[in-house]
Amino acid sequence: MSDIIELSNFINGEWRPAYCDHWIDDFSPANGAQIARIPCSSGEDIDAAVEAALDAAEGWRNLSITERAEWLEKIADALENRAEEVAQLESLDTGKPISLARSVDAARSVANFRFFAEQGRNFDSEIFEMSDATNRVVYKPVGVAGLITPWNLPLYLLSWKVAPAILMGNTVVAKPSEMTPMTASLLAEVIEDVGLPKGVFNLVHGNGLDAGAPLTSHPDVNLISFTGGTTTGREVAKSASSGFKKLSLELGGKNATIIRADVDIEAMMPSIVRASFLNQGQVCLCGSRILIHESIYDSFIDAFLNTVSNMVVGDPADEHTELGALISAAHRDKVLSYIDLAEEEGGDILCGGGAPVGIPEAFQEGYWVSPTVIDGLPPDSRCATEEIFGPVVTLHPFSDDQEAIEIANMTDYGLAGSIWTADSDAGSAMAEQIDSGMIWVNCWLHRDLRVPFGGVKNSGVGREGGRWSLGFFSEAINICVKH
Ligand code: NAD
Repeated sequence: MSDIIELSNFINGEWRPAYCDHWIDDFSPANGAQIARIPCSSGEDIDAAVEAALDAAEGWRNLSITERAEWLEKIADALENRAEEVAQLESLDTGKPISLARSVDAARSVANFRFFAEQGRNFDSEIFEMSDATNRVVYKPVGVAGLITPWNLPLYLLSWKVAPAILMGNTVVAKPSEMTPMTASLLAEVIEDVGLPKGVFNLVHGNGLDAGAPLTSHPDVNLISFTGGTTTGREVAKSASSGFKKLSLELGGKNATIIRADVDIEAMMPSIVRASFLNQGQVCLCGSRILIHESIYDSFIDAFLNTVSNMVVGDPADEHTELGALISAAHRDKVLSYIDLAEEEGGDILCGGGAPVGIPEAFQEGYWVSPTVIDGLPPDSRCATEEIFGPVVTLHPFSDDQEAIEIANMTDYGLAGSIWTADSDAGSAMAEQIDSGMIWVNCWLHRDLRVPFGGVKNSGVGREGGRWSLGFFSEAINICVKH
């Protein structure tokens, strides 16, 4: 037990055990060993956290937005000082390569706080003049914000919610994924160290049913920002709707990567492979269906397989590793079951399909799937339309732009996608016909934090990012003064 980290809830500026003595074990995806345990919190812990958030609300909302922005800047500084620790913990907890945890998770978590601090310093509300009156828009806090996050980008996504929520004067109760609790606790330590007023940020560990559900249904929680799977999102929406809570749902995806005939395959290949397999394909924005113009189908596949088969899969702590382990045994089994299904649906496994060959003895108990490429599936098959959320891509030919658009729109999801072409105007025009919240042309995950982020169809409701986050985490009130 001694090497196993025991995490606590952080409520009203104090580290507290949960009301009941139940625990959830947290495992290293790389070797299956237990690394931590977290309290299996329940409604009583959520009640305590919401009460702390309510108590802190008045003092916090009375600060000016620029004062709150200064707090965000302090958190960013303190988090930056611990960036290497964030990266190490995130890599350990998720099984992702350390290089990725450094360049994306740690860096972006700091950037999120800095970005929203800057947004706060430059925040201007609108004035609308009439001939006989002036309308002034005032942005008020919504109240207590419940923030629920998944395991794939733990602190990256939590900081993306905490920063704008507290900037706009809300107080928060965060419930991170029970599978990756480590960096949420580190954020609470940072917040304690900088001396953020007690109760502004509260953290409750636990699973979805025991801790998440009481948060979404709590009558004193006024807003829910949820990122996770579509099935869970549906439950969250039901639970939040009876209290008319403000709701943002960032859900699953099944994104298309469209390769037009005019593409420079060699130049684009590293980016296309990255879009397919970053974080073992466990990024909601990953392109898990590659649609390729029929005239270059074979040459694209040769080049793609050549790059994919040379990817370095293995020890997440090794600087050279490109792909690590999947999050859990259950998730690995789900991904493998889709590979079995692909074979039943008539697919041809061109590479991968199971655990990588040559994984060292120390990682034999980990949750591994090598990058898998599947050809020959109908574009409307289950494997090509359902979210697998692993290192698995399916390949599909198309004959013209219109057919590519039809295939891209053939799923119930509508989160993201990318188009690769020498003709960026044509790519941009195609992008407008794809039913997705975000489309990249000749790039992928090229993020400007000012732009709207979110999905359509079963990929979610609402937008976050830049001024959309500021709008979501506030209530815009109009004050009309007659001259
Ligand atoms: P999940 O839905 O299983 O869990 C997400 C969070 O919800 C966890 O904290 C979990 O404990 C909590 N939860 C579970 N049941 C709940 C309930 N009934 N009420 C309240 N909370 C509950 O998702 P996951 O497996 O952690 O994450 C993977 C999914 O997240 C994928 O579908 C992926 O596409 C999606 N995702 C979407 C985005 C996006 O921005 N659209 C980003 C990252 C991940």
